[in-house]
Amino acid sequence: MALHQNLIAGEWTGGDAIPNINPSDTNEVVGEYARGTADDMKNAIAAAKAAFPAWSRSGILERHAILKKTADEILARKDELGALLSREEGKTLPEGTGEVIRAAQIFDFYAGETLRLTGETVPSARPGIGVEITREPVGVVGIITPWNFPIAIPAWKIAPALAYGNTIVFKPAELVPGSAWAIVDILHRAGLPKGVLNLVMGKGSVVGQAMLDSPDLAGLTFTGSTGTGKRVALASIEHNRKFQLEMGGKNPFVVLDDADLTVAVEAAANSGFFATGQRCTASSRIIVTEGIHDKFVAALTERLGKINVGHAMEKDSHVGPVVDQSQLKQDTDYIDIGRKEGAKLAFGGELLNRATPGFYLQPALFTEVSNQMRIAREEIFGPVAAVIRVKDYDEALATANDTPFGLSSGIATTSLKHATHFKRNSEAGMVMVNLPTAGVDFHVPFGGRKGSSFGSREQGKYANEFFTVVKTAYTQA
Ligand code: NDP
Repeated sequence: MALHQNLIAGEWTGGDAIPNINPSDTNEVVGEYARGTADDMKNAIAAAKAAFPAWSRSGILERHAILKKTADEILARKDELGALLSREEGKTLPEGTGEVIRAAQIFDFYAGETLRLTGETVPSARPGIGVEITREPVGVVGIITPWNFPIAIPAWKIAPALAYGNTIVFKPAELVPGSAWAIVDILHRAGLPKGVLNLVMGKGSVVGQAMLDSPDLAGLTFTGSTGTGKRVALASIEHNRKFQLEMGGKNPFVVLDDADLTVAVEAAANSGFFATGQRCTASSRIIVTEGIHDKFVAALTERLGKINVGHAMEKDSHVGPVVDQSQLKQDTDYIDIGRKEGAKLAFGGELLNRATPGFYLQPALFTEVSNQMRIAREEIFGPVAAVIRVKDYDEALATANDTPFGLSSGIATTSLKHATHFKRNSEAGMVMVNLPTAGVDFHVPFGGRKGSSFGSREQGKYANEFFTVVKTAYTQA
């Protein structure tokens, strides 16, 4: 099997191979990918540093052409790349293909942004002097991504970094190198000058840590767990670099007595269980007012009974496997914890056997949950959700906000008053009304509050806050 190598200074290079295993069928090796070393990371950072002066001054048409070409190729290959993504991560094929399309849309959007760069000119407080305010690229930017969105998250960091003139060192999650390698290959062939984008695959504790420890990165953007995020923050402060963190969530989905039951059930099922519950915007806390509680639980349980968990590539699978053995153990450990805490397992939670060996877990729904239980406070990151019964809207809002996280939140209601109040008072970066907590657009800001995020927003034109620095220039004519 051919080894997919790291890209450093425009050359494919690389040593040891790591097999990329399909979680739907652990007998299948999706591909062999290089395991980089700390020295590879150092060389990649040096290459990005050398490439920065020319790329930061490159013309906007050059950047536009490369990003547009990349978008077009990703879209043209959506079926093949969607299948690769589903095979390495375990999302169903429609979910995998949908994520690939989104990556193409992101590259397309930032291709357009290169033609929309602006600055400001304002009068000085002193007569005869002009003031220009412009944005310049930050420098060498490090990108570290998690396994759960193997192509969309790399796309939403790489595309704006390039559009605004930065050079990059990219370290994808070790579990999903395939999609990451594919977009780097596309960008490389689209004409990026050598050293502008460097890929170093390998272990977080080795190549990721080497990135954190480098004094030569001007910025670091990270998505992943809270624990690693803290390491990124501390190392970045130490090296006086700009950083941006997107971390975990424990997103609430509120269902009020006046909700449309069908809308509420569909949104809750999607939020909690689609993509195997492995989305940072998934909802694993469903907060339900008492008038609708029993009806809602009965309808949601019935809906969960119709979800087929199966091989990601099979047509009738609605939900694929968990990503790997260690995530599966985390999920089943939390199911045990929920039982021991006194919650009632109202549905599922069993390991499933399928025709191929994989990490199949039936969606699990707990009821009789208090918001103080661990299953209501800690991120599980699997198909496990908890229903919390509350008296009324006020208690629902207070419970929704009673969490260390603040990424997304949702409410099912037909009341304009409650929808409006919730949008204003929910302590989350993204709020959904009569929609799942997950599933966001590519051209508007993405990010959270409290323990979920740190720094400026990602995506849309707001990405320029991280990927540029502001310069104020004064001229006396
Ligand atoms: P991790 O924090 O374990 O890993 C994220 C990335 O960090 C991986 O590339 C990993 O490499 C790397 N890494 C690990 N250790 C180090 C280190 N010491 N130095 C530098 N890099 C390191 O998270 P997961 O991949 O397990 O992703 C799941 C988590 O991500 C969940 O908590 C989820 O909520 C969060 N997430 C947040 C999102 C958001 O936008 N808020 C979106 C998606 C996920 P390696 O793969 O080799 O371990």
